[in-house]
Amino acid sequence: MVIETWSPKETFAVGERLGKEAKAGEIYTLNGDLGVGKTVFTQGIAKGLGIDEPVNSPTFTIVQIYEEGRIPFYHFDVYRIGDVEEMDEIGYEDYFFGEGLCIIEWAELIIDIIPNNAKKITIEKDLEKGFDYRRITIEE
Ligand code: ADP
Ligand code: MG
Repeated sequence: MVIETWSPKETFAVGERLGKEAKAGEIYTLNGDLGVGKTVFTQGIAKGLGIDEPVNSPTFTIVQIYEEGRIPFYHFDVYRIGDVEEMDEIGYEDYFFGEGLCIIEWAELIIDIIPNNAKKITIEKDLEKGFDYRRITIEE
């Protein structure tokens, strides 16, 4: 499925829709260049899950945990990860195979441990279509 957006608001809304439909135990991987809108999209997902506290990219930790929504929300940003072993150290399996929704920004960096059934989401720019244009591809 391909969805096109022309503003951060629209990308947020796409995330929100997904967040409303998300089921416990699901994993969504989120790939795309820096500044493409992965965090905006993730903020929409959080809203869709019923999370009101602000959601930003976890800077000093690999995973940020939100438990106030409909189901637990585990927000990973693995951009700064040096080695997949760091995922072992934080006990990632408890999250990946737990009862919440996992979103993993920069999942391509830890592709070896991403389960096959993860939903793959890619966000891309196309400057020919405008500075705020984004193409969001969702693969089941
Ligand atoms: P990432 O997490 O991928 O590094 P962010 O979500 O932090 O990116 O930042 C995306 C930036 O792009 C924001 O400043 C946002 O306002 C801007 N932006 C412009 N157009 C869009 C769009 N259509 N969708 C999402 N973000 C957009
Ligand atoms: Mg980000």
